[in-house]
Amino acid sequence: MQDCALDKGLLDEIMDVARVMSADGKPADYIPELALTPPELFALSCAPAGGETVETGDTERFFTMQSISKTLALAFAVEHFGAANVFRHVGMEPSADSFNSLMRIEMTSSKPSNPFMNAGAIAACSLIHTAYRESSAERLFGFFTEITGRDDGFDEKVCASEKRSADRNRALAYFMKSVGLLHGDVESILDFYFKLCSIRCTSGGLAQLGAMFASGGVSPVSGRRLIKRETAHIVVGLMSTCGLYNGSGEFAVRVGLPGKSGVSGGILAVVPGRMGIGVFSPALDAKGNSLAGMKALELLSDRLNLRGF
Ligand code: GLU
Repeated sequence: MQDCALDKGLLDEIMDVARVMSADGKPADYIPELALTPPELFALSCAPAGGETVETGDTERFFTMQSISKTLALAFAVEHFGAANVFRHVGMEPSADSFNSLMRIEMTSSKPSNPFMNAGAIAACSLIHTAYRESSAERLFGFFTEITGRDDGFDEKVCASEKRSADRNRALAYFMKSVGLLHGDVESILDFYFKLCSIRCTSGGLAQLGAMFASGGVSPVSGRRLIKRETAHIVVGLMSTCGLYNGSGEFAVRVGLPGKSGVSGGILAVVPGRMGIGVFSPALDAKGNSLAGMKALELLSDRLNLRGF
């Protein structure tokens, strides 16, 4: 197949085909504030190594990172505490359970399957919070700002809405504490987790984050190394096996790239050595993944011959 050039014309074409998929889903509503997002929004950004970002659609629109911030928490925890220590508390295997499932932990009382499920991310947050207490959120916000070169803050409304409706995450965290899988004050750890999920970003910011991982840990904005190459490999490796919850297998087949989705409708994708991609479209499938976002990545992967496997 002939590779196309990455330009706005190509992204416009992909947007026109992909956004139609939104009709088959709807924005997440278990966090009431997210349910207010207009489902027809769509944005797609590509940040190629050493080149200008190319993008289309509602690229000025802010959305919250939700689970995509789990890549930040994992990278930060591995950098600060070492991989061996982190993986004592959380596994590195995919799971066929939904992202907020309690079932396996209750059945086995063993550590969460991977750091991209809620239980695993809450365990990573607990490690960070034990070390950095009230400054934990600021540190993670600062980390994202260093990557993107901009500080878009966090969305207090979405954060408060999640906090009010977080019965399930609360159940998960208290259960983990009761069997010794979580240490520290559950409410403070969850407050930190909700803030992380509420970091504001654009599709362009996600593309920069992807470019940082694609380069093995160098900020695409400042050129500074922010994380070790080995840390980037760990995060990208887990993105390729666990990044789209129990839809990770389908994503690997259709898109063939490491990715991480969030219930606000964002998907981060990494083309190792080549580029970072951010896509946003809030209508989700039953597993919590953006329908139009997945379609756009599938088309982009085909047209630019990006598949890694
Ligand atoms: N804040 C969301 C939750 O914990 C994140 C889930 C997601 O994006 O998958 O339910």
